[in-house]
Amino acid sequence: MRHYNIPVFIPELACPFRCVYCNQYNISGTCKAPEPKEVNGIIEKHLQTIDYMNNDVEIAFFGGSFTALPQEQQNVYLEIAKPWIDSRKIKGIRISTRPDYIDEEILQNLKNNHVTAIELGAQSLNDKVLSLAGRGHNAAQIERAAIMIRNMGFETGLQMMTGLPGDTEKSTMETAHRIIELGAQTTRIYPTLVIEDTDLAELYQQGKYKPQSLEKAADLCAWLYLLFQTAGVKVLRMGLHPSENFYEGGSLIAGPFHPAFGEIAMTRVWNYRLKDIIPERAEKLIVSAHPTQINAVIGHRKTNKEWLLDKFRYVEFKAEPGLKKEQIHVDFY
Ligand code: SF4
Repeated sequence: MRHYNIPVFIPELACPFRCVYCNQYNISGTCKAPEPKEVNGIIEKHLQTIDYMNNDVEIAFFGGSFTALPQEQQNVYLEIAKPWIDSRKIKGIRISTRPDYIDEEILQNLKNNHVTAIELGAQSLNDKVLSLAGRGHNAAQIERAAIMIRNMGFETGLQMMTGLPGDTEKSTMETAHRIIELGAQTTRIYPTLVIEDTDLAELYQQGKYKPQSLEKAADLCAWLYLLFQTAGVKVLRMGLHPSENFYEGGSLIAGPFHPAFGEIAMTRVWNYRLKDIIPERAEKLIVSAHPTQINAVIGHRKTNKEWLLDKFRYVEFKAEPGLKKEQIHVDFY
């Protein structure tokens, strides 16, 4: 059984803030929230291509701060989902929002309207980094919101960023540890990008902000992934999902963007796992992994395969359905 999200983007519509890195219009590729009647069309279109009988499907209201909308407007969107949930084509609703737009009344309303998962844009749990990012909330507010969400039985997601102004590898790892301690079940990791018409773009042009290199960002994400995986926190995404316009580079100024960023980071994850188990010397190596993971093990542009071929005369990759998705096995002769 696979999980599918039907994404409905609600851009900055409800957001009175302007985080230094954010230009929601450019990120989502659309400047207006869909009319409620359009949402049904989006759902229908997606369901035509998903085997909803045998998979988990959720509607995901992403992009802005859902709970910052007036409650009546939230409910208009949430009620659109109801008939789909009643007919069992959709399992539930996910929303993303800000930590300072969470209280008991808001959560109870979401609970009453079939919301199953809440993802908070935490971004960092370091107050200095949050303040430099212009987030408009502090770490204590994230912690309070995350605990409330978890205690009310929602799937709790805490999204984080890397490479924010003032952030270091140490403070990034501390954020990840705190996300784990707060009991998050999921996370998304977004390296900071410099996008046109943002305060960060200005800082970058004035030489006051230096973005992460693609190398560094992918490497840090790989370490974070391994940390989260060990703690049982599911990493739903690494890297920004670009809109068409953004993909063409129209609004990206600088930063560790790559259309296959997640793949590059996963190549490193598998590289670290391989490093742990390959022998120092051998003639022949047979690397086995779950069939869905074998290409990721070989790596983006076959980098892991080539790395192994530099060390061993013969390397073979074998899909092994008996292994778990995160497992890898090496035979050598
Ligand atoms: S809270 Fe979200 S939508 Fe609002 S400015 Fe910050 S990143 Fe953008």
